[in-house]
Amino acid sequence: MAADHSSTPPSTVGRDFIRQMVDRDLATGRYPGVVTRFPPEPNGYLHIGHAKSICLNFGLAAEFGGRCHLRFDDTNPLTEDEEFTRAIRDDVRWLGFDFGEHLYHASDYFERMYEVAEGLVRDGLAYVDSASEEEIREARGTVLQAGRATPDRDRGVEENLDLFRRMRAGEFPDGSLVLRGRIDLASPNMLMRDPIFYRIRHAHHYRTGDAWCTYPLYDFAHCLEDAFEGVTHSLCTLEFENNRELYDWILDRAGFQEPRPHQTEFARLNLDHTVLSKRKLIRLVKEGHVAGWDDPRMPTLAGLRRRGVPPEAVRRLAELVGVARADARVEYGLMEFAIREVMNSTAPRFMAVLRPLRMVLTNVPSDWEETLVAPLFPDDGPDRGTRAVPMTRELFIERDDFRMEPPKGWKRLSAGGVARLRHGYLVRCDDVVRGPGGEITELHCSVDRESLEGPGEGWKPSGTIHWVSATRGVTAEVRLYGHLFAAADPDQVAEGEEFIQHVNPDSLEVLGDAVMEPALAGPEAPVRVQFERLGFFARDPDGTPERPVFNRVVELASRRIVEAGVAEGAVGHVEVRAEVGSTTAVQVSGQTPEDRISPEREAARSSDPLLADRFARYRELPGVSLEDADLLTGEHTIGSFFEAALAVHDEPGTVAAWVTNDLRAALGDRPVDDLPFGGAALGRLAALVAEGRITRAGGREVLTELVALGGDP
Ligand code: ATP
Ligand code: MG
Repeated sequence: MAADHSSTPPSTVGRDFIRQMVDRDLATGRYPGVVTRFPPEPNGYLHIGHAKSICLNFGLAAEFGGRCHLRFDDTNPLTEDEEFTRAIRDDVRWLGFDFGEHLYHASDYFERMYEVAEGLVRDGLAYVDSASEEEIREARGTVLQAGRATPDRDRGVEENLDLFRRMRAGEFPDGSLVLRGRIDLASPNMLMRDPIFYRIRHAHHYRTGDAWCTYPLYDFAHCLEDAFEGVTHSLCTLEFENNRELYDWILDRAGFQEPRPHQTEFARLNLDHTVLSKRKLIRLVKEGHVAGWDDPRMPTLAGLRRRGVPPEAVRRLAELVGVARADARVEYGLMEFAIREVMNSTAPRFMAVLRPLRMVLTNVPSDWEETLVAPLFPDDGPDRGTRAVPMTRELFIERDDFRMEPPKGWKRLSAGGVARLRHGYLVRCDDVVRGPGGEITELHCSVDRESLEGPGEGWKPSGTIHWVSATRGVTAEVRLYGHLFAAADPDQVAEGEEFIQHVNPDSLEVLGDAVMEPALAGPEAPVRVQFERLGFFARDPDGTPERPVFNRVVELASRRIVEAGVAEGAVGHVEVRAEVGSTTAVQVSGQTPEDRISPEREAARSSDPLLADRFARYRELPGVSLEDADLLTGEHTIGSFFEAALAVHDEPGTVAAWVTNDLRAALGDRPVDDLPFGGAALGRLAALVAEGRITRAGGREVLTELVALGGDP
């Protein structure tokens, strides 16, 4: 799946409404070129939502041969900080964008802004008001009711000018006076009802120090910053839609002629299972729910970077999400898809054992050691490099890869069973050593040293497992991350609750005695890797060369197959897929797999990465046929339904059959969205049948009832 999309050139991504607008503006000569800006307020670290804006603004400038400014919108002395400006600069560069010499600060324009404000006062377009902010808010009226003038609205120009100058000179205390635009107290746009332009704040600014004690507000400052810098397209998120009228009013009254900047709004990025608001992220940090701004669970760019997410993957996500006018939430799966897509082709493979179980090869001498050579990219063969993997008499395998009494279809090692050690030999488990409490402490195995090329006489492996030499391996710490919030939308909370109460307490698991191939120790070792069968990982700065620390960036798409322990050679998902694909095809019919896939659904998948990702994942699920995977991925709802059912009853083959046969038959032409019950109910039904509580035929009748009436089985 990943490989299919990594080659998609950016040009196939449609031209969004902003790019179409810029095309038009250049064609009609409205602007001679493109100047954009990314204007963060330095009051926190950047998050993945900002990345969308950065990619858009810097991307446009690059595509149209223009320039993009990084501008710190530092007009509020109370919340801003040098630490944040440094972090923001680093993050923008890390994402791969170069602002060159175009680094600006709103605070550099305080003098020019003040002059504009004085000009407005002189023109009778702004006045000093002694009403409190509370009184001003109250007098502004409501959507249904026009605002009222406060007593100072008719103060004369000379007096306003004098007061404003004395505000600047520091003669008045905080909150005693404000400067307001004299616009329209009856405007249907509340922001036009004489907005506040300046307020008094005797506060130290991190750049201008104590030079100022009156500071401009966002709406007054932002449009001027754009105009001073010659910005053409001022792009911001939808919540600023109502501010556009004020933006234009100020620039027009301040005498900026066309071509001058114009504001256009686009949709924010909202990502499932996290919050994207600096205010909320600050709380996570301050209240100790995470270790800091760069905690690998944070949706900040610093967090993603530390986790090991490649910057290409963040840019790819921005590209996949696109630019639209309507707000939408983005499934976390899309982010994982983007990460896998990039790492699949760039992260070399190694073996690591997260929860080690000792294995002793009893039929070799104690000092036996052999060096096996394994490709760094097994799917591409040895051309992209190899690594030396030492094999010794004592090894570690994954505890989960061994069962005393294996379930039916077990594809790993069991007592008396044979498995292949990835990139190495076949081993047979002859003996199981137990500790005082009865727990398994060691496996005694024989190795077939003739088996590198193929199985020896009478040795039939049930599957392939990964391993690391116990004597040559490196111990390491591995950190596994879950979602910071279990709920898809953490802001959807009950009355009286807060998002912070829904932080997932189990989002971090630390494994202290993982073991890895020795190639991973030492200064030359790569930063981002795939641990075969386990996922993509990256080195954390907490590690040392002797004791590395790795973060799991993302699981493999084939996680479920690994969990279910199916498929011989479950080692890298591409191999697994080939294997499952071919065996299923042979079993089901003589046709080639391609014949049975619907072209419409195939087309849907090729233009929708989430569907493509699901298709690849479903094909690896045990018992799910190619046809099932196809039927489940023509559109979003049926797959979501399937996954919800699977969450209740984790038997992919059975659940897929319920959805693709029985449910589709019962539905007829109706869409899945119409159903009066969710996937979880179907999962419960499948479980009832599996437990023998009702017969399969009875289950079908229940399903027909459910489709007609809803409810719960
Ligand atoms: P937050 O709500 O997280 O505090 P903000 O909008 O206050 O964000 P700014 O520093 O003012 O943060 O934002 C800089 C730019 O990033 C703005 O142009 C803003 O529109 C954009 N931006 C912020 N959040 C998002 C998001 N979730 N998706 C897309 N763009 C965003
Ligand atoms: Mg803001």
